[in-house]
Amino acid sequence: MTTFYDKAKAFAEEHITPLAADIDRQAAFPAALFDKIVEAGYTKLLIPQQDGGLGLTLNEHQETCMAFAESCPTVGLSYMMHNVALHTVLERAGDELRSFVIDEVVNHGKVMALAYSEFGTGTHFYISDTTAEKVEGGVRLNGMKSMVTMAGYANYYLVLSHTSDGSEGITNWVVPADAEGVAFKQADWHGLGMRGNASCPIALDNVVVPERLRIGAEGEGVSQVFEQVALPFILGLAAVYTGAAEQQCAIAVEHAKSRVYPNGQSLAQIETVQLHLSDLYIKAQNARALTVEAARSLMAGEPDCLAKVLAARINASENAIEASRIAMRVVGGKGYNGATATERLLRDSFASQIMAPSVDVLHVWLGKALAGLPLL
Ligand SMILES: Cc1cc2nc3c(=O)[nH]c(=O)nc-3n(C[C@H](O)[C@H](O)[C@H](O)COP(=O)(O)OP(=O)(O)OC[C@H]3O[C@@H](n4cnc5c(N)ncnc54)[C@H](O)[C@@H]3O)c2cc1C
Repeated sequence: MTTFYDKAKAFAEEHITPLAADIDRQAAFPAALFDKIVEAGYTKLLIPQQDGGLGLTLNEHQETCMAFAESCPTVGLSYMMHNVALHTVLERAGDELRSFVIDEVVNHGKVMALAYSEFGTGTHFYISDTTAEKVEGGVRLNGMKSMVTMAGYANYYLVLSHTSDGSEGITNWVVPADAEGVAFKQADWHGLGMRGNASCPIALDNVVVPERLRIGAEGEGVSQVFEQVALPFILGLAAVYTGAAEQQCAIAVEHAKSRVYPNGQSLAQIETVQLHLSDLYIKAQNARALTVEAARSLMAGEPDCLAKVLAARINASENAIEASRIAMRVVGGKGYNGATATERLLRDSFASQIMAPSVDVLHVWLGKALAGLPLL
């Protein structure tokens, strides 16, 4: 881990940890906290220094997502979405759109999000049923996105649609939050966990976007999803769920030491509990080690970096869920009844297996990647 991780960790402990329980209780996006994240410069992380950003890489992206998630996974997850959307623009947008977005993020504190998933195509978000029709002044979009993290807070949403010229493939757009016809269905967010994400549907009802807000050419959406979105997104999720597993371990260890029976024996003195603590620590460290290694491999451009990133995300997701089950056994009634964060983290962890690409889909992709087969 770099010194940037230490900086993000210190920021998270000061600003995020104290709010974590309340964010869950309110089940609303923590806008004031995110404003602080913006002010502290974290949303400029991937923007080159010559353009006013921090000029950092997907390694620090991974580190920051992990540091934030070690305080509150829903905050780490929300932050991750901004970086992934921005990375896609930085890598694939033409000069005019790229400069516009950089200016918005650097000089106006604007935030981005991903509005890809739809009710129809579900976890296969690289397929879109959103229609696009050429009209005077741009393209008219119609569709419904199913779960959009930071919906209503973010200023720009990456939206996949059919092509507007009838060509093959899908097209990626930057849609402003205040475009006419964009509606946030905030009352429809009832997430079990990751409740601060406020990942509600967005309706796109005759939304006209100018051609200058198209990322790259018509029909490039699938290649953008697989070449720019996928790796930082899947790596970021590995970091987020590593943070959840680490928190479960830390809470269980602390509880086992401090919970003392009337006869003076602590939970930590019971051998079965010791075995659970051992298992928890291994699961958390294992998630962390593979995530850090995947980021290293990605930055080094190694041939098997895709396999490592997929493995890190699957592993962290499954370890976070399993760590939650074991932690609940150790922490017992206090964990179940909300006296510790155990039950909140358990609910947060369950999001990991269904977030696109779901753990099952990723397992299939990893098998294909190892066998040298195309993912789709
Ligand atoms: C907390 C949270 C935040 C989210 N934030 C965003 C966001 O910001 N932007 C966004 O675009 N989306 C977001 N989503 C949506 C998410 O990424 C998924 O697309 C969505 O949850 C899946 O929708 P679905 O239930 O219709 O999936 P379905 O497609 O119905 O899949 C249901 C299950 O079936 C299984 N399955 C389906 N197809 C296959 C297959 N081919 N092989 C193996 N298994 C398969 C999978 O395991 C999957 O879990 C978020 C979701 C959550 C939970």
